Amino acid sequence: PGKKVLIVYAHQEPKSFNGSLLKIAVEELTKQGCRVTVSDLYAMQFEPRATRNDIVGPLHNSEEFNYGVETWEAYKRGGLSKDLVEEQKKVQEADLLIFQFPLFWFSMPAILKGWMDRVLVQGFAYDLSKSYDGGLLQDKLSLFSFTTGGTKEKYATRGDVRYLLWPMQHGIMHFCGVKVLEPHICYAPEYVSEEKRKEMLTAWTQRLKTLWKEEPINCTPEWYFK
Ligand code: FAD
Ligand code: ZN
Repeated sequence: PGKKVLIVYAHQEPKSFNGSLLKIAVEELTKQGCRVTVSDLYAMQFEPRATRNDIVGPLHNSEEFNYGVETWEAYKRGGLSKDLVEEQKKVQEADLLIFQFPLFWFSMPAILKGWMDRVLVQGFAYDLSKSYDGGLLQDKLSLFSFTTGGTKEKYATRGDVRYLLWPMQHGIMHFCGVKVLEPHICYAPEYVSEEKRKEMLTAWTQRLKTLWKEEPINCTPEWYFK
């Protein structure tokens, strides 16, 4: 109770399975007394491109544009664009970040990747020698909740789904100092029965009920590639 949760949601359709998973999370966490904020990226028409428009005012080096350097400098002088400042404020306030999305090409949809690229800037999320366990977003938890087209059986035979979590969980969240909870994967909602879909939705509610008792995963190469 009293915990703050930011759900970053990337699906175009509220009636989708992802939309139902979002709705369940908002309802259950609110019921627990959490303060829930949703960044509905498509509805916000969130800009996924990392461009010089993200910097307000004069550039640090206007001769040769370097996105990483410019956003770092802009962050320090309070010169990032308004949409980024707003997202960073939501991240700063959150105890838990939930990412809710359909798997696109073994990864996240471009609009969500764009959120990562643009929001988690140097100086805010990490810094020169402040990364991984020393990352700047300490004492926060993250949870990747996603759906797939492929069935659980296919993922079991074609390779471990943990491989594709390495860039997202370790490369982004752990890099920024955020602890990682077990991912929540709903396999093939389009291809299973209505009954199975309902079961998957109930399982998400059940998981959320005891979420705050969970221990983060040990986010090391062994977890992914052992
Ligand atoms: P939906 O189609 O919205 O939902 C499935 C069904 O559930 C629908 O009939 C919906 O009406 C129903 N539903 C919604 N809410 C409820 C409810 N409350 N109760 C009961 N039923 C409900 N998949 C992979 O596995 N690997 C990939 O690499 C991959 N890459 C992709 C790349 C692209 C560009 C695209 C477009 C898709 C890709 N996919 C991939 C497939 C994608 O991951 C799935 O299509 C997606 O995860 C399905 O989720 P959804 O929310 O869109 O499902
Ligand atoms: Zn890690």
